[in-house]
Amino acid sequence: MKTALVCGAGGFIGGHLVRRLKREGFWVRGVDLKFNEYSESEADDFVLGDLREQAFCRAMIDQSFDEVYQLAADMGGAGYIFTGEHDADVMHNSATINLNVVDACHKRRIKRVFYSSSACMYPAYNQEDPDNPLCAEASAYPAAPDSEYGWEKLFSERVYLAYRRNYGVQAFVARYHNIFGPEGTWTGGKEKAPAAICRKIAMARNGDAIEIWGDGKQTRSFLYVDECLEGSTRLLRSNFAGPVNIGSEEMVTIDGLVDLVADIAGKRISKNHISGPTGVRGRNSDNRVIAAKLNWAPSQSLRLGLEKTYAWIETQVCRNFPAEKLVA
Ligand code: NAD
Repeated sequence: MKTALVCGAGGFIGGHLVRRLKREGFWVRGVDLKFNEYSESEADDFVLGDLREQAFCRAMIDQSFDEVYQLAADMGGAGYIFTGEHDADVMHNSATINLNVVDACHKRRIKRVFYSSSACMYPAYNQEDPDNPLCAEASAYPAAPDSEYGWEKLFSERVYLAYRRNYGVQAFVARYHNIFGPEGTWTGGKEKAPAAICRKIAMARNGDAIEIWGDGKQTRSFLYVDECLEGSTRLLRSNFAGPVNIGSEEMVTIDGLVDLVADIAGKRISKNHISGPTGVRGRNSDNRVIAAKLNWAPSQSLRLGLEKTYAWIETQVCRNFPAEKLVA
């Protein structure tokens, strides 16, 4: 039986990944500081612990797993990573995890290790025009990410690829672009734009206004979690180390995203633009490399993913907020 380790298994993408690997027939160990919030993990072995601790990390990588997925990170949405208040934690915590994991993989002769970097590592100067952002893999340098979260991702990408060059660790690096879906953080300050907008609209009455950070003209693309897993497993099982974008090319303005969710919800919603952390002006995935190297690229429409996500968040809102706040 093939074996896999998922670091960050108690998180959003990690939880979905464990489920997928179980469906594929793997024996799976999951590791995280916490359990999944919204469903029971399907991991055969789920260990609570801190991957910043080297001894714990080594103990988790105690066998030559066929596949290791390193997703653990100190992260959140714009309200967490762009305010500057968490910079030291974000850099220290995530860099320590990555240094520990890649070194333990090397020492245990792990066959294949996947690292989830982020589009946040791309230079801010290429993302000032909302209509024409440049996020081709080769445009990463000269480096100028707009957040410490992005700098840590870039540093850790280099660590994995250095272990590949110097020690022959089969490391694979993906740059995720805004992954969303059911069972993602939807409230509490670490949620990202699609989840926050779904929540606000689920809680709004027909005709209400919801608050949007920035002027709403900033652009992004959003990838549904199932496609993220498809790209990640394909990459790890390929001969291509990356770094490679795993994202959607369906770019939308934040106002456009609000209109789409409102349409799915069947509500008339107006927008109240307020100041808030927004990140770069424009960002979109560039899928030319993934299409060429893996002969595959994400293709599902944003609307389809949002329909599933909105339905899940609406259920969460109904469970967690008093009924009188909800829509007629
Ligand atoms: P998440 O926050 O839901 O999951 C990360 C998990 O890591 C959490 O469960 C957290 O408890 C765990 N963790 C943090 N510190 C730890 C530690 N010291 N020891 C053990 N576990 C620890 O995030 P996610 O959305 O599932 O993202 C997974 C990965 O993908 C992250 O590395 C993230 O940076 C990257 N990524 C995600 C997105 C996205 O849109 N979701 C975009 C780009 C990159």
